[in-house]
Amino acid sequence: MAAPDPIMTAKRIPITKAEVLPPIIDLKPLNWFFDVNRAMSLWPITFGLACCAIEMMSVSMARFDIARFGAEVFRPSARQADLMMVTGTVSKKMAPALVRLYEQMPAPKYVMAVGNCAISGGPFKFDNQYGIIEGVDNLVPVDVYVPGCPPRPEAILEGVFAIQEKILGVRFWPKAEEIPSPKAEPKPEKA
Ligand code: SF4
Repeated sequence: MAAPDPIMTAKRIPITKAEVLPPIIDLKPLNWFFDVNRAMSLWPITFGLACCAIEMMSVSMARFDIARFGAEVFRPSARQADLMMVTGTVSKKMAPALVRLYEQMPAPKYVMAVGNCAISGGPFKFDNQYGIIEGVDNLVPVDVYVPGCPPRPEAILEGVFAIQEKILGVRFWPKAEEIPSPKAEPKPEKA
């Protein structure tokens, strides 16, 4: 008989969101000021697991340009990051490292599950599979889910907006349907 899987049988501490102590000087305008700064300068950790990580890379490049929304400073150290985008398949072998990185991030911190693999196991979820965590929310608390296989870079940007909205309580950017479509240019007349 196969030995029991240590990851699945380990007694876990219940997943809880890291709490931040209330400020000593509790001034609403001051808190709002800090929250706006926090939301508009999210620092993601440089961390990718599979194909969805390519979408995360492309969102930081010129065409999609996550820098417009203040979240382009990908940090190589968890201690300098406040956003974890889980982009890809979470294997059981990787799970302890993922939890350790999350625990090393200072609070307040946010997690985005990017792609179907991170949300639920995606195409690797089937009967008797033995290597994949079926949803990263089994390991760490997830704030925003971005579905797709893979989700497009625009969807990852929407995820960033959702986290900003979670921090501030309001959405800063217009929704796609609120942006008027550009008027068609009149065709030049033939000579
Ligand atoms: S969701 Fe699809 S694209 Fe993303 S890591 Fe899984 S298999 Fe790859």
